[in-house]
Amino acid sequence: MIKIKTIASGSKGNAHIIESENNTILLDAGVAFREIQYAAGFNTAKIDACFVTHRHGDHSNATPMLIKRGIKVYAPKDTADKFNGVIALKAKENLTIGDFKITPFEVPHDVPCFGYLVKAGNEKLLYIVDAEYVPYTFKDITHLMLEANHSRDIVMDRAKEGKLSLKLAERILKTHISIEAAMEFIKKNDMSRVKEIHLLHLSNDNSDAVRFKRKVQEETGAIVYA
Ligand SMILES: [Zn+2]
Ligand SMILES: [Zn+2]
Repeated sequence: MIKIKTIASGSKGNAHIIESENNTILLDAGVAFREIQYAAGFNTAKIDACFVTHRHGDHSNATPMLIKRGIKVYAPKDTADKFNGVIALKAKENLTIGDFKITPFEVPHDVPCFGYLVKAGNEKLLYIVDAEYVPYTFKDITHLMLEANHSRDIVMDRAKEGKLSLKLAERILKTHISIEAAMEFIKKNDMSRVKEIHLLHLSNDNSDAVRFKRKVQEETGAIVYA
């Protein structure tokens, strides 16, 4: 049974502990290392590997400390170029870590960025953050961890009111998944096996967690966390 423990989610930091029967991995490491230690019950030795989506600090900050502690960190090539000791992954190449079979795939962001498909037993977890949209469809997902950074309406309204510069509004729309894009993805993919949906990377100013959660819950009938 896959277990998800979110350490942090959002522009201030992203990191999630994923556990299977026998193994533990981290998805992203964009927090202070002590936060990972704390969340792992001060047993970071149990972390078999870490998969970083991309080089931005809110996803990669703890990378040097993880490597210092002997934890293998995998990421896209340009992230591996940024941090000594990171192992570069190729898109669509499978990797086995104990119970887990992990497949990275490219998603559109302003730097090279991976989403990860994580299989354990007959369960399938999908992790996608910091993408303009999701260019693929997936089958038999049981755990969905998907960005719902903003609502396009809220971003447009705040830009019109002058609370958000046009430049920033454009960057947000082009580099992060909106609730509208997340809903399109959910409608396009078979959600019949999904038990849990984690809406991630919500913006403080441009999102509405209660509304987003209700929308996704009504569409899927899954347990939704936001
Ligand atoms: Zn981010
Ligand atoms: Zn980013």
